[in-house]
Amino acid sequence: MRIGFIGLGIMGSGMAHNLLRDGHELTVWNRTASRMGPLVEGGASPAVSAAEVGEFCDVVMICVSDTPDVEQVVLGDHGVLEGIRPGSLVIDHSTISPSATLELAAAVEAKGAFWLDAPVSGGSEGAAKGTLSIMIGGDAAQVERAMPYLKSVGQTITHVGAQGAGQLVKVVNQILVVGNQLAVSEALLVAEAGGLDLEKTLDAVKGGAAGSWMLSNRGPQMIQRDWRPGFTIDLQQKDLRLVLEAADNLGVPVLGTSLIFQLYRSLQTRGLGSEGNHALVKALEEMCGIYVGESPD
Ligand code: NAP
Repeated sequence: MRIGFIGLGIMGSGMAHNLLRDGHELTVWNRTASRMGPLVEGGASPAVSAAEVGEFCDVVMICVSDTPDVEQVVLGDHGVLEGIRPGSLVIDHSTISPSATLELAAAVEAKGAFWLDAPVSGGSEGAAKGTLSIMIGGDAAQVERAMPYLKSVGQTITHVGAQGAGQLVKVVNQILVVGNQLAVSEALLVAEAGGLDLEKTLDAVKGGAAGSWMLSNRGPQMIQRDWRPGFTIDLQQKDLRLVLEAADNLGVPVLGTSLIFQLYRSLQTRGLGSEGNHALVKALEEMCGIYVGESPD
């Protein structure tokens, strides 16, 4: 089995490294060719296009930014569809529109190949360590077939339903992520305003009922005012648009998530879209003139 990986960004590069670590024969392609370097040094073969990945590989894993980007690498010029063989399997780890997913899957199936939507959660840390949560939509036999490769990149692997269901579970995941991020932001600001030692405060609460991935992983970064992204605000907004669209289609009020979308929007307007999503706290800081951690930046 030859495995292909398309999209070697923050997430994809970690995932591809873990496939190599586990001894899988790997072909990689990234739009910006220089990003293939470390993987090629580690033993992966570079492809010249996404079409070539489709041609050479039995299983093609994709992790690019947004819906139009998956459409481009699959359906566009020199895309996967140009090279793919009947019987091959495409696994999309990007977070994209559930409805566009069905159209992409149909195009791949028209070539006699298979499609799984398999978005991930667990951040850059999870991608690097191979401990991602993977939520999968698609045919059970194909999930079984994908399992050896999914196990290289993830720890909690859940087949949640038919095609598109993986992306809908990811929408659910993102409601929880940003709600949590807002809670961590408000909590650290109150601690700061009250003159508490922020590190001791984190130590005191993170093991109790208030503990969360966001608090443990991003709380210390916020205290250090380290805004480097595990997940950028721009990509977070892309996901929140998917949440708002899905909730609208389903007739569900998402009041809190809508508010958080507006807070992130204000940060994008200030030119902060490439910072990590934990910079949400900056929107609250602006309202009160109190700054978490060190002096205002
Ligand atoms: P990233 O670091 O910005 O990487 C994006 C990747 O997509 C790069 O390899 C980029 O290529 C490629 N790409 C974008 N548009 C493309 C196009 N039109 N054609 C070809 N390649 C294209 O993003 P990331 O954080 O790894 O996120 C990737 C996906 O995983 C997104 O859907 C995101 O929502 C999801 N995700 C991210 C996280 C996280 O914590 N970061 C967690 C869970 C899920 P270039 O190198 O040429 O720009």
